[in-house]
Amino acid sequence: MNVGVLALQGDFREHLFALAECGVTGKLVKTPEDISSVDALVIPGGESTTISKLAKAFGLFDLISKRISDGMPTYGSCAGMILVAKSIVDPASDQDTFGGIDMEVRRNAFGRQTESFEVDLEFESITGAPIRGVFIRAPWVESHGSAVEILSTVEISGVAHPVAVRQGRVLATAFHPELTGDNRVHRYFLEDVCKK
Ligand code: GLN
Repeated sequence: MNVGVLALQGDFREHLFALAECGVTGKLVKTPEDISSVDALVIPGGESTTISKLAKAFGLFDLISKRISDGMPTYGSCAGMILVAKSIVDPASDQDTFGGIDMEVRRNAFGRQTESFEVDLEFESITGAPIRGVFIRAPWVESHGSAVEILSTVEISGVAHPVAVRQGRVLATAFHPELTGDNRVHRYFLEDVCKK
C-alpha cells in the first residue's frame, strides 16, 4: 500500500517519520500525479486555510476531495481534522474543506488560555497506556452525524468535546500524535482504518 502525506504546508515530515517507525515509507504528495499514485493519505497539522488555498493553487483540491469520497483511507491531524470536516464554524473567507467526515469543527476551539496544552487521553480501540494528546491551537468537533464514531474526548467545564473521530475509512485527531514518538495512532490508521 502506498501511503501519501500531503506536503503543501505543515508538519508533514513528522508524519513521514511516524509512518517510517511503523515500517511504511510514505510518499510526499504535492502534485496531481502524486495523489493519483497513492492508496491512502495523511493530512498534517499546520494551517488549514493555507493548506486549502495551496491545494487549490496546485490543482489538488478537487482530486483529493473526490479520492476521499471514493473511499481512500485518510487520516487528518489538527489542521488535517479541519480539512476532512464537512463544515467549519466561522470559516475564514475562501476556506473550503475536502470533506470525508459528517461533522462540523470549531477552529482554535480551546481558547486563548489553553491554545496549546498536553493531556493524557483514553482512545477507543487503542489499549495500554493513555495516548498523550498534544494540542496546538486545536479544533474540536462541534457537532456530528450518527455515522461518526467518537474515539476520544476532552472534557472542558463538564462538556466532553470529541477530539478523535472516525467515519469509515476517514480518521481525524485534533491533536498531534506525530509529535510524541508514540506511533500507536498511526498504527491504528494503517492496521485498522486502511484495512476496512
Ligand atoms: N489552528 C490551525 C488551523 O486552523 C490548526 C493548528 C494545527 O494544525 N496545529 O488550521
